[in-house]
Amino acid sequence: MGERSAFQYCTWCFAEIPLDATVCPDCGTNLDDYARHTPYPDRLIHALHHPLSETRMGAIIALGKRADPLTIGALTDCALDNRGDVIEGLEILHSLAQMPQTPTLVKALQRLAQEHPAHAVRVRASDLLAARANPPSP
Ligand SMILES: [Zn+2]
Repeated sequence: MGERSAFQYCTWCFAEIPLDATVCPDCGTNLDDYARHTPYPDRLIHALHHPLSETRMGAIIALGKRADPLTIGALTDCALDNRGDVIEGLEILHSLAQMPQTPTLVKALQRLAQEHPAHAVRVRASDLLAARANPPSP
């Protein structure tokens, strides 16, 4: 293991900043103020752009649990922005599957079924679309 200085990521611009910083030297964001004054769903959506996939995954899972249809677009963009990450693409589909059925959701699933480069993600998106087109009878 090489020597590595401790740092944290700025919650706004994601610059690597000292662990004890309270204000980001890069963008000037006050980290406490950001955490305190930014609504949780907005922070989750912003975290979809985080450089660490673990942090993105945490946000993806939390957004799935919230099942807010207004976050469908951000999740879909995240899958296509990180198209090399199959696990992340599948987790995003899992979160989208929690969302209520809206035309936006159908469009998002169609987009992933057509545009995502990973076969596994395209197949899963198609399966979700088919399941929603033909819901199992009770
Ligand atoms: Zn910053």
